[in-house]
Parts: sequence; structure tokens; C-alpha cells
Amino acid sequence: MAISSKRLLVFLFLCIANSLQFLIVSSSTSPQGYQEYAAARTLKQEQGNAHEVHCSRERSRAAWKIIEKYLMPFVEKEKYQISISCKLHPENDLYRDQEQHKLHEDINEWRCGYCKKTFYDEKYLDKHFDNRHYHLLNVSQGRCLADVCGALHCDQVMDSATRKTKCNPAAAAKNKHLCESLAHSCFPVNEGPSAHHLKEFFLRQFCDAHTCTGRQKPFSKGGKKEMSILYIILSVMILMLLLLFYGFVYLYRRGIKRGTQGLKRISKSRQKKSS
Ligand SMILES: [Zn+2]
Repeated sequence: MAISSKRLLVFLFLCIANSLQFLIVSSSTSPQGYQEYAAARTLKQEQGNAHEVHCSRERSRAAWKIIEKYLMPFVEKEKYQISISCKLHPENDLYRDQEQHKLHEDINEWRCGYCKKTFYDEKYLDKHFDNRHYHLLNVSQGRCLADVCGALHCDQVMDSATRKTKCNPAAAAKNKHLCESLAHSCFPVNEGPSAHHLKEFFLRQFCDAHTCTGRQKPFSKGGKKEMSILYIILSVMILMLLLLFYGFVYLYRRGIKRGTQGLKRISKSRQKKSS
């Protein structure tokens, strides 16, 4: 009896060990698991030769997003060419070329446009750029878009904890000064009426909000409207529902009309019969 229970225990133990082994093997060969493993491995390999660049990629990206959304549509409308001496020119963004080589192919799939390697998160692709394609960054010219973040209100578009901190009048004055110097250098008034319009626009759109009164909000002139697919689908659905509703009302009314006409005919024929 004791021997048979011991055998049963050994058998159960072997079964559990086998199923555990199967689980480990299947998870490491699944595509997602492999991708994570590969990303972790590449990171480990690449962490060894990280190169220091004193310019924040995140803040540069935030500044570029603001320029693209809240400035460029107005510059294009005026058909104005921003000169390369202006810090907002795309050439003065150290990371522009790398950012343009980011391919977001699926929710969890980011591809490097230089070497076609894939990553499941944007931050791993950023790391990969920092380590493998750092030589593409021309760091010698001091082209850091993050430097103008203070003027452009980057904290407004970034998930930053600094947004809720108390307004510092000295910092606000410094940012206003930086903002105004950008307006002067990017849109010199001697370059014609469009530069003059854009300079005034820039001061209202970005510089006026650098106060601690809280009365002025940045990007007051609005930005590029993004037409989402969801919005289009919703509009089409509402249109279809309206058509259905009116169609139903029309058919219903016609039905009532015919019904009353039929009733009238029946009552008339009865009256004739009774007379
Ligand atoms: Zn690459």
C-alpha cells in the first residue's frame, strides 16, 4: 500500500514537471515572447556602447509636434519659407531624420527604417537609435529642438508632473523672452507682410501665455484639425439612421392614409346596401 502511494506521488510529480516544461517552451517560442526576448537581448547588447547626447529626444519630439500642429499650418497658409537660421526649422532638429525613420506598423510593432529591426515599444526603438544609429546624429552644430521647449509650452502636451507645479514668475519671464526672440529671428519684419503677419500670430499663439495670471492660454488660435476615422464612421451612421427614420415615418403615414381611405370605401358601400 505504502509503495503504491509512493509510486503515485512520483507519477504526479513527473506529470507536473512535464507540463511546466511544455509551458516554458511554448511561451518562449510564441512570436510575442520571442519579440520581447529579442528586444531585451538587443538592449543588453546595446547598453554597452551607449553614447551621450545632451539633448532630450522626448522634449524635442514634443516641440516638433507643437510646431507641426500649431505653427506649420499657418506658415503654409502664408506660403512663407522659414530660414535655416530660425531654431524652428526642421534642419535644426537633431532627431528629425531618425524620427522620420520610425515606422509604426502595428500597435505593438515599431520598425527601424534604417535596418528594419522591429520592437514592441517605441522606447526600445529610441534606445536602438541611440545605440546603433548614433553616428547619424550631427551633434556638432548644437541643433537641439528641446532648447525651445520652454517657449513652445512643451509641458502642455507632455505627460509631465511639472504642469501642476506653481507658476514661477521668473521662469515665465525667461520663457517669454525666449519666445519673443524666436518670433523676431524666425519672422523678421523686413521680409514682407507675410513675415509680419506670422510674427504677430506667433506672439499671440505662443508668447502671450507666458504669464502667471493664467488668463492667456497657449495655442489660442487653434491648430490643425485631425479628422479621425471614428468621426467619419459616426457621421455616416447618424446619416443612415436619419434616412431610416424618415423612411419609416413616410411609410407609416402612407399606411394610415390608405387605411382611412379603405375604411371610408367600406362604410360607403355599407350605406348604399342599407339604403
Ligand atoms: Zn536600426
